[in-house]
Amino acid sequence: MELTINNITKQYGNVTVLDDVSYRFTPGIYGILGANGAGKTTLFRIICGLMRANCGNIQYDHKDIALQAEYYRSILGFLPQDFRYYPDFTGLNFMMYIASLKGLNGKIAKKRCLDLLIQVGLDDVKNKKIRKYSGGMKQRLGIAQAMINNPEILILDEPTVGLDPKERVKFRKLISSFASEKIVLLSTHIVSDIEYIADEIIILKKGRIENTGTIRYLLKDINKCVWECLVPEKEVNRIEQVYTVSNRKYGEDGVVLRLISREKPFANAKQVDPVLEDLYLFYFREGE
Ligand code: ADP
Repeated sequence: MELTINNITKQYGNVTVLDDVSYRFTPGIYGILGANGAGKTTLFRIICGLMRANCGNIQYDHKDIALQAEYYRSILGFLPQDFRYYPDFTGLNFMMYIASLKGLNGKIAKKRCLDLLIQVGLDDVKNKKIRKYSGGMKQRLGIAQAMINNPEILILDEPTVGLDPKERVKFRKLISSFASEKIVLLSTHIVSDIEYIADEIIILKKGRIENTGTIRYLLKDINKCVWECLVPEKEVNRIEQVYTVSNRKYGEDGVVLRLISREKPFANAKQVDPVLEDLYLFYFREGE
């Protein structure tokens, strides 16, 4: 199974939001990492066939998705960023409704809905109206509805928005167990969400793919470039103008800065192992 995006370009008016984006996805979990406005949602909408690109095409198993629209929809699951629900439906009714839209009916649909509600931890509130759900519960319902047809391709736009740390852990487990032999794309600007589960990261910056690879591979880029150094508090602002600082830790003797620099920044700087968050800041310096 493969999903290929070929030379996708998208413009809104004369603003180019996606610029010649190409990629070949085979089964696995892909984290699309990018700052707000990088083009993640636009790319997902195009991959889902909800929006047309100005140039390029999307192929599922070597055939243009536009030429197999109905079939493609049947193997696709999508959680949009602005997930809509009916507040007066209960969680279970909503799931049954989505199931019937996807052509699932009867006992099979009911079993699938109940199973998914258990998996996302909504079993005990399944008969409550969605309007009474917390933000995290609504988001989990959104994740469940995207998985209802056991899709081959699962696309989740900012799936962890509104989830608390416990819910995030559950989410990661759910996706990992679901994902074997499937293509899962998820976008986020929260690094820790994909650090543990993504097989591959795609860094999208201003509508272009800036870099791709496993976390280990990408971290090589900043190997020997992450430092920790103790500096006086009054120096912090000045240093932050010069260096990309990924963390500050205030102590009695001053501030320990974690910063990214090709050269050793200060005599007392100690080299430390890079993590994905350092890499993110390296690509998306503040203000960019
Ligand atoms: P992301 O999901 O990475 O935050 P988006 O795909 O939502 O990025 O947006 C990419 C860029 O396209 C942003 O600059 C955004 O303002 C712009 N954009 C998105 N939708 C529209 C639209 N319908 N009309 C004009 N510009 C848009």
